[in-house]
Amino acid sequence: MKIKCDFCKTEYDIDNMPSTPVKCAICGYTWQVAAAPRKNAWLMFFASLCALLSAIIFTIAVITQHQAKQAAQGPLVASISGITTTTDDSGVTHIVVKGTVTNVSDQIYGVPDLLIVSTDENDKVLTQQKFMPSATLLDSGASVEFNHILAPQPNGVKKISAKLLNLDIPQGDKK
Ligand SMILES: [Zn+2]
Repeated sequence: MKIKCDFCKTEYDIDNMPSTPVKCAICGYTWQVAAAPRKNAWLMFFASLCALLSAIIFTIAVITQHQAKQAAQGPLVASISGITTTTDDSGVTHIVVKGTVTNVSDQIYGVPDLLIVSTDENDKVLTQQKFMPSATLLDSGASVEFNHILAPQPNGVKKISAKLLNLDIPQGDKK
């Protein structure tokens, strides 16, 4: 069979397909002689398929990890324990949101402002009201209760949730 130096294009006649890289006697270039074209094409296809598959798997792994990170609890967790109503002197009914902010981390955290979000049945945000809980600092494992009277709500409120605002979440593990 004939092989050709990839660099200077000198042709050589050899008996067998070399399994190790060959060195050109003219220019000194060393190269691996490619296998028969057909087999090579199949290998190329297989290699690119493998690359594609691993790229897909890698993407899925990254997305899964990303979702897991999103779902992971922050150092502080706000939860609503009850929603009641109260009627003021002028007969207007207000929604009262009761809940707690708990520090689930092992560090002391400042309590951020809370945002009470009202959404309709399609998860569309109807109102957002910000307020400050009574505590300013939470020890590890401590929690503070909040009790917030909402401004009059529009019709169609189906869900009320509490969010922590401007929570300074530490980057990485600080143990
Ligand atoms: Zn050469």
